[in-house]
Amino acid sequence: MTRLVLSHATVLDGDGGVLHDAQVVVEGDRITSVREGVSAPSHPDDREVDLAGRTVMPGMVNCHFHATYHNLGGVPAPFGLEEPMALQAVRAVNSLELLLTAGFTSAVSAGAPFAIDASMKVAIDKGLIAGPRLVPCSRDISTTGHAGHRSFPPQWEVGALGAIRPSDGPDEFRRSVRAEIAEGAEIIKMFVTGGHGTIAPGERIEMSREEMAAGIDAAHLRGVKVRGHIANREAIMMALDLGIDVIDHADGMDDECVERIVETGTPIVPSMLFPARFVDAMGGSGLGFTDSMKADIDAMAEMLPKANAAGVQLVLGDDFGAISFPHGPYGDELAYYVDEVGIPAIDVIRWATRHGAELMGRGDELGTVTPGKLADLLVVDGDPVDSISVLKDRDNLLAIIKGGRLVKDRLPDRPLP
Ligand SMILES: [Zn+2]
Repeated sequence: MTRLVLSHATVLDGDGGVLHDAQVVVEGDRITSVREGVSAPSHPDDREVDLAGRTVMPGMVNCHFHATYHNLGGVPAPFGLEEPMALQAVRAVNSLELLLTAGFTSAVSAGAPFAIDASMKVAIDKGLIAGPRLVPCSRDISTTGHAGHRSFPPQWEVGALGAIRPSDGPDEFRRSVRAEIAEGAEIIKMFVTGGHGTIAPGERIEMSREEMAAGIDAAHLRGVKVRGHIANREAIMMALDLGIDVIDHADGMDDECVERIVETGTPIVPSMLFPARFVDAMGGSGLGFTDSMKADIDAMAEMLPKANAAGVQLVLGDDFGAISFPHGPYGDELAYYVDEVGIPAIDVIRWATRHGAELMGRGDELGTVTPGKLADLLVVDGDPVDSISVLKDRDNLLAIIKGGRLVKDRLPDRPLP
């Protein structure tokens, strides 16, 4: 079997470790060797590439991805989520390919209508389209009249058409969770509060403790994780008590929350870039809730370095496809946390790699450059630890390797086209 031998590389292992002048060997779909300096004995049919100091790092994991979103919030309710399924599926195909070519070899969805995610996963796994390893998500489960359900005309049934499955009472929460799993969801999304870019205030909690508990219980009985759009302190604590698996946004997180989150090990998706861009674009436009969004951003910018230092399992992912925030420049998120929030680049890379793989429940086979793991790797022209911005430009990715297969190959042993 032809091995791919990447020599004289800087290796970012995905867990804070850096190897210099190192060699990584890929055989079949696995990484078989990672060592500093020493050359492995060469086989006659090896493909050897002298990387001359370029960087090898794990393929990244986007942990909050909406493949179907398109200018969400930029058009009146129902926000385009009622568009024909085939059109939304084409959008999903495009955004998943964009994500892969930006260096994300895995993605965990945060919600899509019409079970489109589940179909995308099948299409990717069968090789029909290019995309990351995908964990398909449910529609948003929430209650009648919640923030995304107050639309005009009032008779418009968002649950039947779009991204929302309105559910009332513990029994309906159980039924909705089971139905979404039956339709292919491998993670369940609950819309727990307003806030974070929705039209309802962040303080509002959209479901009772009993409803959330029933939904989480039903999902866990089927071995499925639950994530929640949560933007206030009280709901963060309730969700942690009830054993939620992922907290999205986490606006309102304070020191006590951080302490509790470290105990539970629950992954947190801070997703600050969308609100930051939204406030930049809309701040002065008279929209009332941009002020509270700005306050949430400032509070999170203060909490996040503390949460990172305390060992919170932070991950990447954001609402690309929302208004003022088109799909494509996914690498901007890493640069935002380094340049605007002051998180060390090596830590943000760990969020994007090891932490993401662990959120997927696949930390034993993805997320670090380790012998025996699946070969999901990037070869980067430049060093993201020195300059995180190199990950903003997909042209700096010389190779994208998914399961040992080169889905992009501009390695320097080949003449550029
Ligand atoms: Zn989202």
